[in-house]
Amino acid sequence: MPELKKELYDVTIMGSGPAGLTAALYTARADLEPVLFEGPQPGGQLTITTDVENYPGFPEGVMGPELMDRMRNQAARFGMENHISFIEDVDISDRPLTITLDDGTQFQTHTLIVASGASARLLGLESEERLMGHGVSTCATCDGYFFRDDELVIVGGGDSAMEEATFLTKFASKVTVVHRRDELRASAIMAQRAFDDPKVEFLWDTEITEILGTREDGVSGVKTLNNKTGESGELECQGVFVAIGHIPNTRIFEGKIDMDDSGYIITKPDTSETSVDGIFAVGDVQDNVYRQAVTAAGSGCKGALDAERYLERLHTSS
Ligand code: NAP
Repeated sequence: MPELKKELYDVTIMGSGPAGLTAALYTARADLEPVLFEGPQPGGQLTITTDVENYPGFPEGVMGPELMDRMRNQAARFGMENHISFIEDVDISDRPLTITLDDGTQFQTHTLIVASGASARLLGLESEERLMGHGVSTCATCDGYFFRDDELVIVGGGDSAMEEATFLTKFASKVTVVHRRDELRASAIMAQRAFDDPKVEFLWDTEITEILGTREDGVSGVKTLNNKTGESGELECQGVFVAIGHIPNTRIFEGKIDMDDSGYIITKPDTSETSVDGIFAVGDVQDNVYRQAVTAAGSGCKGALDAERYLERLHTSS
């Protein structure tokens, strides 16, 4: 059970990726003494990445986990209080807001900055669920190491699939990208890197209908279906990496905060304000377009400034 320093906070932050930690840095430096709940993946998606080459200020690149440690240390230096637990419910019916944590702990807050990001989308196959962690993975950088000299399958046609395919060739003897269309969604530069890699092959217009294997012995192959010819087939492999996008972590806000059809929180134009007074949304949880570490950090900054202004109004009117 986390030992909270207060019963009523000015600022509570949900999530510890670049958006959440930047919001914490700004609100801590504004003496708002924020409390941050790290969530199920402390440090967010960058902790399952290796080299980050497009975060400004690091000309030689930086490892994802190191970047997140630096952000956490920077916010902590200015007094951020953080806990390794997650927010399970928010009561928006009254003010201050009442927050319930996963262990049942309750406290109050004047503002909530939602920076809970997004999680990996899955194919929805029974065999995928059964073999997850036993040859099926959603994180090449976490699990690639376990597949030395193996033949692997990557599902997806976006930047993630291309990046992971290229990364996995460090370990694997062959990587087959299985994509449901005959055209990639990935950016030209990422696609070209994968095309240029002699260990990467492509299987177009193809869907995976079953992942073969057992929890004891791992994955042995996949069953495929060509959605143009209707032809089914089988491909031998020892690992399957699913890289088909992400789903925003907004479950606890369903029916409470306005969201789009995909579950991303809708913010008012040019602000981080949501449909609920005192709740702000920043980073990937409200951004299905840019989804970059640097845009998430910028968005976290906006959320902090919006929350600060909201608190100024609240405290001067009371
Ligand atoms: P994405 O761009 O949404 O691509 C998802 C891919 O998975 C698409 O090719 C999609 O197919 C496929 N897909 C979705 N659902 C599927 C299903 N049920 N079965 C089979 N295939 C399915 O996701 P992403 O690649 O994770 O990228 C997300 C964002 O992060 C993008 O903006 C991307 O540019 C960015 N990103 C950037 C970098 C980088 O610059 N270093 C690295 C990774 C990601 P369709 O194409 O047919 O829809």
